Amino acid sequence: MKKTLILFFLLTCIIYGYSQEYAMVIHGGAGVISRDRMNEEAEQEYRSKLNEALMLGDSLLKNGVVCTEVVARVINVMENSPLFNAGKGAVFTNKGTNEMDASIMEGKTLNAGAVAGVTDIKNPINAAKEVMENSEHVMLSGTGASEFAKKQGLEIVPAKYFFTKNRYESLQRLLQQEREREEKDNMGTVGCAVLDKYGNLCAGTSTGGMTNKKYGRIGDSPIIGAGTYANNKTCAVSCTGHGEYYIRLGFARDISALMEYKGLPVKEACREEIRKLTEMGGTGGVIGIDAKANIAMEFNTSGMFRGYLKSTGEKEIAIFAE
Ligand code: ASP
Repeated sequence: MKKTLILFFLLTCIIYGYSQEYAMVIHGGAGVISRDRMNEEAEQEYRSKLNEALMLGDSLLKNGVVCTEVVARVINVMENSPLFNAGKGAVFTNKGTNEMDASIMEGKTLNAGAVAGVTDIKNPINAAKEVMENSEHVMLSGTGASEFAKKQGLEIVPAKYFFTKNRYESLQRLLQQEREREEKDNMGTVGCAVLDKYGNLCAGTSTGGMTNKKYGRIGDSPIIGAGTYANNKTCAVSCTGHGEYYIRLGFARDISALMEYKGLPVKEACREEIRKLTEMGGTGGVIGIDAKANIAMEFNTSGMFRGYLKSTGEKEIAIFAE
């Protein structure tokens, strides 16, 4: 009896010692998102899509799927929904087209991949992952990126796949008002940062960019170090907001540097970076996770679609700044 008990105790120690905690955090864009602008039905739709993304991530992570695969699959859920400014719901350029950007980075190897200005790849994050895993490059753009994605066997869709009435009407409204930007409709970029069972971090971001963008404008989302960054030594982060500011700040990489050189916890590092963004006059948000499953979801806008979960059962989905 005594021997059995000792054996049981030892087995428990081994199992607990080796089973690493996992966690993930997602965003669906930051911007002018307030209760008075969103009815209950729309709020429920967003919450349920964020929940679907989190639950898929949970089951993949539980089954030992690696962080890079989890990030892409979770982002696919949001890319395939017209609710978010990525994939299916991408915003329109000034010319009435859809040009999408995406990137992914693995914290263990510092490998990264990105695509910019792509027009016919159904899931740009998958193309970014292919660039990371199956090419010698970090970023591919435009028709070259499509050619590569086709070769890798990814789904190519006609441009009309990305047509959504409300995004198109937003562009028409903007054009009519002859305004350069309308922050409200840029929101909806999607991102995911994961800590897997093996202690590895990964982050990814996918976007349609900013409504009414011109001249082949590329934002921060496909730029490693601006919109996306991951390093097992520090954190994995994905950003959303006015990309020009994020590029100039080297936003995502700066968060990692604040942790590495200054010893800031992930939440403090994200806050500090948002403070710098505000000081410069930029708006947006960021999600982050570290190797100990600490989570950050920081923004300076009235809302950010966001959520996280941990293997401990802890979970949260939120929209507004509360
Ligand atoms: N950061 C994206 C860009 O500037 C847009 C967004 O996140 O809302 O392209």
